[in-house]
Formats: sequence, structure tokens, C-alpha cells
Amino acid sequence: MVTLRSNARRSVGGLWIGLLTLVCAPAAALDLQVTEVASGIYALVGPTENRTYDNDAINANLGFIVTPEGVVLVDSGATVQSGPLIEQATAAVTEQSIRWVVNLGSQDHRWLGNAYFAERGARIIALARTVETQRAYADSHLVRLRETLGDRLEGTVPLTAPEPIEADRASLDLGGVRMDLLWLGDAHYVGDALLWLPESGVLFAGDLVYLDRILGVWPHSRIRAWRDTFHAMEALEPTVVVPGHGNPADLAKAKRDTGEYLDWLVREVEAALGNWEPIDETVERLADAPDFEHLEHFDGWNRRNLNQTYLQLEAE
Ligand SMILES: [Zn+2]
Repeated sequence: MVTLRSNARRSVGGLWIGLLTLVCAPAAALDLQVTEVASGIYALVGPTENRTYDNDAINANLGFIVTPEGVVLVDSGATVQSGPLIEQATAAVTEQSIRWVVNLGSQDHRWLGNAYFAERGARIIALARTVETQRAYADSHLVRLRETLGDRLEGTVPLTAPEPIEADRASLDLGGVRMDLLWLGDAHYVGDALLWLPESGVLFAGDLVYLDRILGVWPHSRIRAWRDTFHAMEALEPTVVVPGHGNPADLAKAKRDTGEYLDWLVREVEAALGNWEPIDETVERLADAPDFEHLEHFDGWNRRNLNQTYLQLEAE
């Protein structure tokens, strides 16, 4: 059972928008807030905590765009079992069915729900670069998801876009709405993409941007490219950024929570390497970073990020 309530209006990116919160009964479990960021364009904002059984491993944001001809879903969740719950979220604001699914990344919750929507006739769309990484990590993601989700992973098969786009940018016309699927460089994963809606100024940034919570640099991330990709993205001058994690906001907040942190990581670790400072001393010296301590999960992640950045830049 799903009920919908309307919250007070609040500001995102200097715009006043209506905020709708989807409240699910415990059995439904999916904890996604439906937030309209521009006319007909919605973020599905997930929790910023870890993956759990109860959140169906969707500790990330999805989104959707309502067109006159159907709904474009931005990322599909981590399992086929969460598909009906995502449908309920779109059904709360439109009668249109989901006809297209665009994948922005290769992390589990960006695409492992694809099969559910494909079975119902939706076309899955992704860049070839993204699909390549999805295929490379699918098995390891499924193994880890099984530990967290158990029976809720039942039936989930990794289905990638049938006709991956062999280009770095594709201008799509879906239901009469123009949207650009862009690869501006690697980021959290190799092949991460963005969905840019030039007419409304909304950018679905995927895991290029983390807001409110600290981003995570993994061995599979490309820290220097991530920083450069962020700066390339700024040239789009989006009005609203829907991040991969955290609440939608304006570009200024994206710079504060992600861009400046990436700049700081690369700059400080480069200087440490230039001074032959050992890794443990660098991590210790930079463990406190007042500019970024307000970000959720800072204590657990800043040291890991410094460590991973050091290892990557040292290996260059
Ligand atoms: Zn993510």
C-alpha cells in the first residue's frame, strides 16, 4: 500500500517547487521521496545510508520525466522486485507508463532493475561505455547484493541496453522531449554518464555528484578524471542538479559538496606525493578537513578517500 502526502513547498536551486513525499507501508519498504524539480521532471530521492534489506539496496537517487507519450525512467533500481514500487512512485503523479529507461551508470542500483521494465515493453538506453562497465561488474554486484537482500534479489538478471550507443553523446527525443545523454569523462565508475535536459536546465548527474553526504572514491573510481569531469559538467550551467546521492540542489551546492572536495583531494595528495610524504602520514594529516566535515559519513569516508587517492596518483 502506498499513500502520498504533500509537504510544504521548498526551494531547490532558487526555484520554488512542490515536494511530494511517498510514504510506503513497511511491506512496500521502498523509501523514495518524489520531488518535482521542474515541470514534469522528478527526482526519486533515496536514503543516504547504506544498502539494506528494507531499502532494496536503493540508497541512491533515481528520477523520471513525464512526456506526452510516456515516462522516461532515469536508472532502474537494484532488483526486478523493486520495479513495481518504482512504478507506484511514477503512478502517484502520472497515468503514463514507463516506456524508456536510461541508465547513467554501472553501479547495481542504477541498472539491475532493467529487466522488469524491459519485460513490460520499455526500451533500455545506455552508452556503450556504460554498458561495458555494467557487464564487467554485474557478477560481483549480484554476489554482494545477495548478502544484503537474500530473497528480495530473487529473479534479478543483469539486462543491459540491447543497442548500446557507440558515442560519447547522444541527443535523444523521447516523447517529444529533448534530452542529451553525455559522457564527459569517467568518474565514480568508468563510463558514468549524465542526462541533460537543456530546455528545463535540469541535469541528472548520476554518481558524478554527491550532495549532503561525502562521495566515495573506490579502486574502480578514477579520481583525477572525476575531478576533470565535474569541471566539464559545470559548463552546462544547470539550474537544478539531481545528484546520484542526496537532495537535488543548484550548481553552487554541487561545487561545494563535490567539486571542491575533489579539487582538495587531488591538490593535497599531489602536494604530499611531491614532498615524499608517506601515505599514512598524509591520511593522518588530512583526516580533519573543516570545509567538508558537515557532509554525512565524513568520518568513515574521508580517510578511505585520501588513501585511495594517494594510491591512484602514486601509480600514475
Ligand atoms: Zn552511487
